[in-house]
Amino acid sequence: MAEKRDYYDILGVGKDASDDDLKKAFRSLARKHHPDKNPDDPEAEQLFKEVQEAYAVLSNPEQRRTYDMFGHDSPGGSPFGPGGFEGVNINLDDLFSGGFESIFSSMFGGGGRSRGRRGHDILIRHTVSLEQIFEEAEIEFEAEISAECDTCGGTGAKNSDDIETCQTCNGNGQITQQARVGPFVQQIVSDCPHCRGDGQIISNPCNDCDGSGAMPKEQKIRISIPTGAADGTRLRMRGKGEPIRGGQSGDLFIQIETEPHPWFERDGPDLIMALPLGYPEMVLGTEIELPHIDGKPLKIEVPPASRPSETIIIHRRGMPYRRGRGRGDVTILLKLHVPNKITKAMKTSLNSLKGDFGLPLDEIEDAVRREAQDRRG
Ligand SMILES: [Zn+2]
Ligand SMILES: [Zn+2]
Repeated sequence: MAEKRDYYDILGVGKDASDDDLKKAFRSLARKHHPDKNPDDPEAEQLFKEVQEAYAVLSNPEQRRTYDMFGHDSPGGSPFGPGGFEGVNINLDDLFSGGFESIFSSMFGGGGRSRGRRGHDILIRHTVSLEQIFEEAEIEFEAEISAECDTCGGTGAKNSDDIETCQTCNGNGQITQQARVGPFVQQIVSDCPHCRGDGQIISNPCNDCDGSGAMPKEQKIRISIPTGAADGTRLRMRGKGEPIRGGQSGDLFIQIETEPHPWFERDGPDLIMALPLGYPEMVLGTEIELPHIDGKPLKIEVPPASRPSETIIIHRRGMPYRRGRGRGDVTILLKLHVPNKITKAMKTSLNSLKGDFGLPLDEIEDAVRREAQDRRG
């Protein structure tokens, strides 16, 4: 399947596009790809649908914020439900008159959920070490996250009598309109434009939060890192996201990112590292100990006659598997260490070794042949 295109790209607008920019872009693209203008053209039909979907999401402030934060990979799955976006039937007339707006404004969270309003989800990233992922560490850190305003207790008003019931919707937060969708007349429920779905009007907003009822606050977050968590794992804390007046707070997502280790690369449960060795150690073999993520030293036994680019595998000393027991492996790639500076004395001693360890020029051709045979198995 082709990668889903970015909504802003589809509409050809920037990330900072205003509602008006979006409307203009949508109107012109929807006209261009409208099925009435492109009969029996599946490609135009697909583009028409794509443009609708992009506009549906970006014209809804809440959906747009979620999209800006998560992209197509939003935590609750597609905002249109498991089947994804179905497309709507919009007349060319509606595109000229602006009758399309109510169709889109009623698309999300409709159906009389006025009191079921929910704050935004928040995503923060936190970097942890391999050791912390290894031992299922409990960690605590501070992050600035939107929380209930202390001054007004989340009401958004200076005083409790500064809150009035909205007259337009009688406090329901929603209004019902008739709209034409293709050949049908449909009842459309949408957020009350007067109170923006609150059901309340605040005559005298709280100074500290400008009436939103929320403000950013430094907060302590305590999480336990799941053993073997993959890079990018998201932990959800229900109700710890942005609060909303008269509704339920959103969720807070913490995305776990792995701090680079001084020498290990991680490949799922396996760890990979390179080990430089001098020529004598390579030939004679050696034993090396390195501090390891599990707290016990990692003993690497290099057998005699080892060669650069050979690997040594130490089983079950890698990262834990995410589910169930067991651990991955540590793979050690041997590298030949060659000193940067060679003194006169080193030269003399190396030259004296040529007899035993060097490769005489008259044997080169045979050696090259053998190397090729080994390589080909
Ligand atoms: Zn209202
Ligand atoms: Zn306040």
